Amino acid sequence: MLNRLNDITDFVHQLTHRIHNLFAPPGSTCLTCGTRAVLSPTYPGICTRCVKQIPWIRSIRCQRCGRAIGCPDCIRPHMQNRSFICNRSAVQYNALMKEWIGMYKFRGHERYAPLLTSLLIQAYQAICEEMSSVVAKETPASVAHPATSASPPVDAGLHPPSPRTSTDVRVQAPSAHASPAVRVHAQAATGRPQSLLPSPKPRWRPDAVTYVPVSDERLAERGFNQAERLGAGLAAACRLPVVDLLQRRINTTKQSFKTRGERIETMKEAFSINRGTVDILREIYMGKAAPNRLRIHSSPLRLLLIDDIYTTGSTLDACGRVILNAGLTLNIPIEIYTLTLARS
Ligand SMILES: [Zn+2]
Ligand SMILES: [Zn+2]
Repeated sequence: MLNRLNDITDFVHQLTHRIHNLFAPPGSTCLTCGTRAVLSPTYPGICTRCVKQIPWIRSIRCQRCGRAIGCPDCIRPHMQNRSFICNRSAVQYNALMKEWIGMYKFRGHERYAPLLTSLLIQAYQAICEEMSSVVAKETPASVAHPATSASPPVDAGLHPPSPRTSTDVRVQAPSAHASPAVRVHAQAATGRPQSLLPSPKPRWRPDAVTYVPVSDERLAERGFNQAERLGAGLAAACRLPVVDLLQRRINTTKQSFKTRGERIETMKEAFSINRGTVDILREIYMGKAAPNRLRIHSSPLRLLLIDDIYTTGSTLDACGRVILNAGLTLNIPIEIYTLTLARS
């Protein structure tokens, strides 16, 4: 009944726009506001006016979950042992983003996919820049699981497209001991001559992309997994391998009738590793280690875990835990970073 109502609403919407366009000035119709205008060259399908309304997360207050506002969540004790190192999101989950994501996820408007992927790509570029600067600085007492920073907001500059290059990033320096910057330091300590050429800027990059799976029931209902589509779009654009690492055994979205404890327990059981793709993970790890066999045990595999919305982070945490456990079984050290479209 609801679907039928949605179909009728969509039909009326389209009809109105078609009539409007008959009398409208030349241009293209904006995907999100429906007006005829010059479309953005960067964000597929939308007009420049809509681009201006994107609620980018320009400054990060919580280094752990990437929130732009003060974050009481990440300072709680049980949040200190999260399976992922940090989360970064492209935008704040406001009414407009709720509408855009909803149009794609629940109403199946596939034309939103390139637009939403383009937002995620901005967040990807920002996290790469941010982590590269962390690696370059090699903060001496890097925090294993950084809590909410009490520091003032870190200005992202002009995100987008400029990345959030922070002066006070306290996120753990990833694979510190394996980074080029540290290797240069080690060389200096041994007194061996250094190259006169400027050392290349250490470039942080994930080794592979994976995503939060949906249950078979949900997949049948929606026809696609939005996190998978976003992850695949990002991976293709950034030339990263995408690995279908996880399976969802339990649908955790409808558990409002459960107690908090029950929800946590359900979440623990909700995901499992997709055994068929474990070999791919091993291959990526071996490929990463191949150029320098000595680094095989010191350079963790960096995985970028994708989802559409970060609310409490418990879904991403549960997924990450399953991946870390698989890594332990395979004897592969893994670091997980999560990248989400919106932070609620
Ligand atoms: Zn528009
Ligand atoms: Zn937080």
